[in-house]
Amino acid sequence: MALEDADALWAAQKDRLRPGELACRAGCFGCCVGLFAISLPEALALRRAAFALPEHVREGVHARAARAVARSAQVFPGDPGLGILDPERVEGAEDAFFEAVRATACPVLDLPSGRCLVYAARPTTCRTYGLALASGAELVLPACELNLPAAPPARSLETAIDAARLAAVDQALADLAAADGLPAGAETTVAHALTGAAFEKLERPRVRRGPVRPRP
Ligand code: SF4
Repeated sequence: MALEDADALWAAQKDRLRPGELACRAGCFGCCVGLFAISLPEALALRRAAFALPEHVREGVHARAARAVARSAQVFPGDPGLGILDPERVEGAEDAFFEAVRATACPVLDLPSGRCLVYAARPTTCRTYGLALASGAELVLPACELNLPAAPPARSLETAIDAARLAAVDQALADLAAADGLPAGAETTVAHALTGAAFEKLERPRVRRGPVRPRP
């Protein structure tokens, strides 16, 4: 399954790290600030996990998500009420939105503990963030600045996650979306997945269809 495949990418590189090179730990939440795009299968998995939280926790999550959605509604490239990012969005509109939510904490981030309330259902981005991303000898994204302290750039490359293998995980998610009849290529954010009216409609057919194969 795609989420486990993302875990495997991380685990393989983590094994190559030397003592002191990895700062990632429970309670470190630097990468949980700033909304980002997630696929619909990830969104539905996250919704199920969030809605299974105890009521008082769930209410707090929903309130934070609703605030994030309301604050960014003017620049959301799509209908913020439905919660789906426009698949045809232009790069400029996407950049403006993600810049606007750059300092928004993820609604399922618990503070002050710094823990993810839906850790087992977190998206692939959360599972692979922290190490660099590379395509061959080219660094696509740098590692988190807390990891690999004082290491030369080559060390980032040696321990980077392979962009092609991560793209294969994304493709597996797209295949999963297609198999479940979800809109092709559609994406959302954690906040919009929790509040968007589109998701109730997307979940309903699966309930009527009866048993389906295990989801990530
Ligand atoms: S889903 Fe969890 S791990 Fe991912 S950004 Fe939100 S709080 Fe952090």
